[in-house]
Amino acid sequence: EENKVSWNFDNSYAELSKSFYSKVNPSPVSSPKLIKLNESLAGELGLDIQALKSDENIEVFAGNEIFDGAFPIAQAYAGHQFGHFNMLGDGRAVLIGEHITPNGKRVDIQLKGSGRTPYSRGGDGRAALGPMLREYIISEAMHALGIPTTRSLAVVTTGDPIYREDKLQGAILTRVAASHIRVGTFQYVAAFQGEKLKELSDYTIKRHYPYIEDHKEKYLKLLQEVVKRQAKLIAQWQLVGFIHGVMNTDNMTISGETIDYGPCAFMDTYHPETVFSSIDVQGRYAYANQPYMAGWNLARFAESLLTLLHEDQEEAVKIAQAEITNYNELYQLHWQAGMRAKLGLFNEEEEDKILIDNLLGMMQMNKADYTNTFRALTLNDPQKSSLFSSSEFAIWYERWRQRLGRQEESLEAAHELMRKTNPAVIPRNHRVEEALEAAEKGDYEVMERLLAVLSNPFAYTPEQEEYCTLPGPSDEPYQTFC
Ligand code: AMP
Ligand code: MG
Ligand code: MG
Repeated sequence: EENKVSWNFDNSYAELSKSFYSKVNPSPVSSPKLIKLNESLAGELGLDIQALKSDENIEVFAGNEIFDGAFPIAQAYAGHQFGHFNMLGDGRAVLIGEHITPNGKRVDIQLKGSGRTPYSRGGDGRAALGPMLREYIISEAMHALGIPTTRSLAVVTTGDPIYREDKLQGAILTRVAASHIRVGTFQYVAAFQGEKLKELSDYTIKRHYPYIEDHKEKYLKLLQEVVKRQAKLIAQWQLVGFIHGVMNTDNMTISGETIDYGPCAFMDTYHPETVFSSIDVQGRYAYANQPYMAGWNLARFAESLLTLLHEDQEEAVKIAQAEITNYNELYQLHWQAGMRAKLGLFNEEEEDKILIDNLLGMMQMNKADYTNTFRALTLNDPQKSSLFSSSEFAIWYERWRQRLGRQEESLEAAHELMRKTNPAVIPRNHRVEEALEAAEKGDYEVMERLLAVLSNPFAYTPEQEEYCTLPGPSDEPYQTFC
């Protein structure tokens, strides 16, 4: 059969030890319908848009047809969920294969919501339309913000109902990722089949960090590279006010991409303790805790590598601990550099930290909107900031303008830097909810308009204005669900 879409599968993970996965086909669904196709991503992947929209290919997105060259598997992994170690695995997802793009890049093509697998435990293996569109919207918004993330290629409805608290429409998301290898994948192999740890590590190095392959301490290098990417990634989250919501070790990738858009949400009002997830009752994954929890997860990753780090395990622990310390420092550096850029600062002064802390402190005290405060500063229109009326802010503003004046770069250059760094729009919760509500009723226009605005967050165009407005007053705080 002719491959009009140009899928180009080469399934390297399936060539690893059989214990790393289970061979399992998606379960058929009754009447798939294409709800959303990511045409720009399709282009990047070298796929034909018309062919992707064809009835034959919609059957592929639905898991009803297995394309020639695909080899569907569910990946095995473990993970610490809210601190507790569990055996997990793809319970409602199937990796249908690895696609090689025209540029030679290898990406996982995964169906999420495609039915039960050997790792489903009590679950139905399915997903609802709302959460799959939510992942689509937020992951694509993250990509547009320049933050490494898994991507969303398509969403189809299945035609079959699924049962949660309500009866919902079933849906399947086609997710594209550099890979789905997680901290939890290493924990699984280290805990249950230590003799295969080298196999997984070598594979991961070859796939994500080929430039360290010949290094004489390549497993230490692997740890260092993952630490570097995560330090940068988490700083990027903090800088835009993204709250992941479920930073379990199975939801942290080795590639450094953001993964698993379940209960995540962007912060409106600045507060370090912000939590949206209904199940995160202790605030383990609160906004300000994210950098620490990432360090905790990286410590679990380092632990799983111990036997490869040194023959003497006491020495191995010391080596691992030094890398976790290094994570904390790297994170701080990325965050501070990012905050300086948000304030238009090119160079570094001792007092910058105080300037930044004071601004955040004022935002917290005055319940200011995080994104809009930086937007107002970027527009140099302090009246747009809800902090404007406070006398404290006037003093801070004067200090900031003086600081800008002390650097070599012009005010225009500072302004340019701020425009590139401070998004005018983020996927605000009330806007996302509004789009999902309409979509569930079959009206996809609200979502399309939102996606268009989110695809260019640094544009600062008049059309974006209405997406900068805050939600109206509400009795209940915004909550998200897994
Ligand atoms: P998460 O918290 O989204 O990372 O999911 C944790 C684990 O639960 C993963 O192993 C998922 O595959 C599994 N899981 C989530 N939802 C379902 C479902 N509806 N059916 C089966 N497994 C699920
Ligand atoms: Mg997960
Ligand atoms: Mg999830």
